[in-house]
Amino acid sequence: MANTASSELPTCKCGTDRESKFSICEREYGALGILYLVWGGTSVPKKVSWKCVKCGKTFDSSTREAVCRRYIK
Ligand SMILES: [Zn+2]
Repeated sequence: MANTASSELPTCKCGTDRESKFSICEREYGALGILYLVWGGTSVPKKVSWKCVKCGKTFDSSTREAVCRRYIK
């Protein structure tokens, strides 16, 4: 099922992980990334973090490029 190196994903106390439907993905862009978005281009987030809709806690984040590329808007 999970073929990633780290099968153990961080969760909040509700058990929500980044793949859960209860998680909200938040993207953070650097100054240059925001410029690309303003110009109507696509930009790879600098950081992606996941927040639980139930408890509102940010339980996971990643700055890895491979991960961020999956969350291009
Ligand atoms: Zn939670």
